Amino acid sequence: MNTSVIGYPRIGKDRELKFASEKFFNGELDEAGLLNAAKAIRKEDLLKQKEAGITYISSNDFSFYDNVLDTAFLFNVIPQRYKDLGLSELETYFALARGYQGEKGNVKALAMKKWFNTNYHYLVPEIDDDTNIALTGSKPLDEFIEAKELGVDTKVALVGPFTFLKLAKFTGSKKISDVYSVLTAEYIKLVSLLASSGAKIVEFDEPYLVRDLSSEDIDLFKEIYSLILANKNGAKILLQTYFGDIRDIYNEVTDLDFDLIGLDFVEGRKTAELVKTNGFPADKILVAGLVNGKNIWRNDYKKTLSVLNDLGVANVVLGTSCSLLHVPYTLANETKLSDDYKKHFAFAEEKLTELNELAALAGKDYENEASYKNNQSLFAGRVNSEDKDVQAKVAAITDADYVRLPVFEEREKIQKSILNLPLFPTTTIGSFPQTADVRKNRQEFKKGLKSKEEYVEFNKQKIAECIKLQEEIGLDVLVHGEFERNDMVEYFGENLNGYVFTEKAWVQSYGTRNVKPPIIWGDVSRKAPITVEWSKFAKSCTDKPVKGMLTGPVTILNWSFPREDISIKESILQIALAIRDEVLDLEANGINIIQIDEAALREKLPLRKSDWNSEYLDFAIPAFRLVHSKVKPETQIHTHMCYSEFTDIIPAIDAMDADVITFEASRSDLQILDSLKENNFKTEVGPGVYDIHSPRVPSVEEIVNALTKMRAKIEDKKLWVNPDCGLKTRGTEETVKSLKNLVAAAKQIRG
Ligand code: GLN
Ligand code: ZN
Repeated sequence: MNTSVIGYPRIGKDRELKFASEKFFNGELDEAGLLNAAKAIRKEDLLKQKEAGITYISSNDFSFYDNVLDTAFLFNVIPQRYKDLGLSELETYFALARGYQGEKGNVKALAMKKWFNTNYHYLVPEIDDDTNIALTGSKPLDEFIEAKELGVDTKVALVGPFTFLKLAKFTGSKKISDVYSVLTAEYIKLVSLLASSGAKIVEFDEPYLVRDLSSEDIDLFKEIYSLILANKNGAKILLQTYFGDIRDIYNEVTDLDFDLIGLDFVEGRKTAELVKTNGFPADKILVAGLVNGKNIWRNDYKKTLSVLNDLGVANVVLGTSCSLLHVPYTLANETKLSDDYKKHFAFAEEKLTELNELAALAGKDYENEASYKNNQSLFAGRVNSEDKDVQAKVAAITDADYVRLPVFEEREKIQKSILNLPLFPTTTIGSFPQTADVRKNRQEFKKGLKSKEEYVEFNKQKIAECIKLQEEIGLDVLVHGEFERNDMVEYFGENLNGYVFTEKAWVQSYGTRNVKPPIIWGDVSRKAPITVEWSKFAKSCTDKPVKGMLTGPVTILNWSFPREDISIKESILQIALAIRDEVLDLEANGINIIQIDEAALREKLPLRKSDWNSEYLDFAIPAFRLVHSKVKPETQIHTHMCYSEFTDIIPAIDAMDADVITFEASRSDLQILDSLKENNFKTEVGPGVYDIHSPRVPSVEEIVNALTKMRAKIEDKKLWVNPDCGLKTRGTEETVKSLKNLVAAAKQIRG
């Protein structure tokens, strides 16, 4: 059986791309240097897959920032304001990604959104009435030729036109129906160019097909692809889908003239059933995505082979369920993790081996094969994964545990009188810049070069400085700055039982930012208070209110690699009980404002609406309530969410029953505010007034403008003023300037 990989991680085995890009941004590396670094990464990735014996390897899966942005760039979907800067091509590309502030102008970055149900982010292409869609770039072709010269005959992976258009934002009067035919024609040109350069397979990634589709969507898809498929120019066309099943369009897809169709059998719960009931055309190849591209557990060969052998399809290629972009590079980087753990994992490189072994076993009498027996021996049980105590606590949760009393309106009054904050209170989301000294302190402590006392002393000094700085800036609700945290999830994971950590298992989150999700190994419980000492110390430095800072259970789970042997719901409840202990300890220590971040709550919402309640909201929202339900009425509970894309679940967000919610609203439009109003949102809100994902400093006027728009939709007494996320990735200088402008803007409005 042949094998196929949708895409490979591209940040470099040791995050080389991140470091090279950052040097480029700082002016320490020139364009040629960055291009070379990228080329070296692509080479290593391609050769790795080739050596592993993968049949269908992708080119053009690389990106300096994001593949959707690459696609926009490829087809000249570049808003004029970026072109006007007069920068080089690569600099223009980064201006779209990161914004630009310098001699040549001052422009915000494009909006950024989560890529389907992952923690990867794409840049939202903007199509206005002047957009002149045209194939002006050559990245797919260049990377195909580059691979070929390395001896790797690749399939060329493209973000497909349907997904591209569905994700784009139309800022003028034009709609999809006005532009799709031009875009399709340009894709056809691209296919013809690729084919004439020797590309045998062009892969069109269309993950949008796993969402709920309207009949117009289906017509649009058919229309676009009838044209493309009538102009293959000798290339074979692979339609690649992932992140779910394509139940709304399966028959239309199989009727079209695709040569290969890639389906996800891991997240696509209905995929196997669709293939069985509707059949699969004998003249096409089915690329069966059975090796999980999102999680890090070893593949269960028994399950996978039984699905494969049961398909009843003539031509099958074994593939990954989605791009391997979402898993770390290689277990070989993990030198500290014992084999007892490691043997249960498969990162990108190990997944290549799995693909190969499975392909060799498929169709055989495999039960006595060594690779099969070895694989099955891994599913017998894991060391230290059970905790009967925690299991009993979860079983004992009652309905009352999910309810906070008194009701919001009463609490709001009590809190207003006790906290005595000004109108439009100013605050931040928690973290302050993680400068080099902060990281060094942590690293030295971790390596044993610093004692615990020295480590703590340093952080306390940082906290004291941070509090002083916030007082000088004039913020109303202060934070301790989160200097002790490498990452908002990893930090909690490290302080909970049941977690396993990696050293270098980085996964791209956005652009040059990578995360290192911890692994939920077994039942989770709290070892001891986690944040209490830091928050207590911060409070001792000031008379102003200090907000305690925690990460919520849904986010801890969503940004970890979850278990596959118990349900997500069970895991979330275990974490919720642990964080609840922390909330109550903070309160007992005098912290009367506590923020429980649920940055990732929205992203795991099932892609299909019909699955929202039954598969997610019905346990995610109660889990959050479980965490804070037992605090006193005067304790103010905040929550924070990245990205404001919860317009469609506002009642559920209100049902979290927090007292205040802050969220991103600066990079996307303020449409969310209308929805809050329409839904009579009761929770107080702090829609971020400026974008922290870019180094740009917002002016006072800009913030006043944002606040003025907000006031039109939100009652004054419910409006908070804050940046749109934590400041950890920002520099100190820009942060201080931005926050001063923020406070000045709040004062101006109060006046
Ligand atoms: N409290 C966290 C911080 O400020 C929240 C980060 C996030 O939402 N991603 O860093
Ligand atoms: Zn955030």
